[in-house]
Order: sequence, then C-alpha cells, then structure tokens
Amino acid sequence: MTIFYKFEGKLYINITNGCPCDCVFCIRKNGDSITDNDSLWLEHEPTFEEITSAFDNYDKAGMTEAVFCGYGEPTVRADMLLKTAEYIKSNSDLKIRLNTNGLVRLIHKGFDIGQFKGVIDSVSISLNAPNAKRYNEVTRPNENISAGAFDEMLKFAEDMKKLGIKTGFTVVDVISKDEIAECEKISEKLGIPLRVRHYVTDNESYT
Ligand code: SF4
Repeated sequence: MTIFYKFEGKLYINITNGCPCDCVFCIRKNGDSITDNDSLWLEHEPTFEEITSAFDNYDKAGMTEAVFCGYGEPTVRADMLLKTAEYIKSNSDLKIRLNTNGLVRLIHKGFDIGQFKGVIDSVSISLNAPNAKRYNEVTRPNENISAGAFDEMLKFAEDMKKLGIKTGFTVVDVISKDEIAECEKISEKLGIPLRVRHYVTDNESYT
C-alpha cells in the first residue's frame, strides 16, 4: 500500500482515495500511479499507526518538502491530515504543503481552518476556472457541495493567506486561453499567485 512516494524530489503523501469532485483532468482517470511509483489506489484508508510507521521507514534523504496530495482529496480526512502533518513536523525538518480543492469547509461543515496555522507551510489550491458555472463544469463537485463551491474555494484561499500560510492557485490548461486570462485577473485581485499546469495524460506530471 503506497502511503508515501517520491515525486520530483519531494515526499508525497497519499492518505485517502476519497474525493467529492470529479475533475475532468483528474490524473486518477489515466492510470494507477504516477511515473514509476506503485499503485496509489489504497487497499484501505491507512490508520495513524500505518502512516507513522510508513513515514519512519521511508528513506527521506535529501528531501526538504512533504506534500499532501495522492489519489484523492487530502482534506476528506482533515483530522488525519492534521495529525499526520503534526507528526511530520515533530519528527523531521520537512516543510509541509497541502494540495487541495479548497472545499474542506463544505466537506466538513464547521471545520476550523485555523488548525492549519503552524502546521501547513504552504497550500496549493485548484482554482480551475474563472467563474462558478465553469468551475462546476470542470471540477464537477457532487450535489452535496456544488452550491457555492466556487465562492467557498476563493474564500478558503483568502482565509489561508490571512493565516500567514503561503498560498497559491493552479489551473490546468483544459480551459481556454481567455479563461486562463480571467483566472490571472482573479489571482492578481486576490494577491495569490497562479500557476498554469499543462494537462498530461501520461502521468508524468501532476502537481
Ligand atoms: S479534486 Fe483532485 S482528486 Fe478530486 S477529482 Fe479533482 S483532481 Fe481528482
């Protein structure tokens, strides 16, 4: 079971295959893993003991950053994410990044993102589209969270930035150039940098 794996010199963390979205570009549609790592489909959601044991036994030589990402949305297991991040902080010098859809407060009503302060060093949030209509077409959140998802994702980004967490947006170039330009305007308005990712189907890059 692959809980930790190496990608582009960083330690990636795979704690869940759960996700309330179905993004049109989701890497999970294209295979079982990325590069030459083992399958990222988990036999079961790992326990804290399984996660810490896997972390302790992983050769982290030369790595400087751990990234919650994997084959799912890490905040689906928000409490486990926090516990794991705290463990990594206490047992290594790794910086911690969270790659997320930014919908944790819709997934877990009332979740206090203040808990991320001092635990998560940086966050990369999938902006995905320049407006709510296109967001729901590209991200395809399930019906329990689709209402207001775009606005909540933006608010999450602003709130994470206010907490002092280094915050960035990403879009994948499955949207048009004009739409990417609109996303750049949102990024400038909120003072949150945007990274445009190239859509790949061969699983060579997905961060
Ligand atoms: S939020 Fe992430 S894991 Fe979920 S469907 Fe989109 S790309 Fe895939």
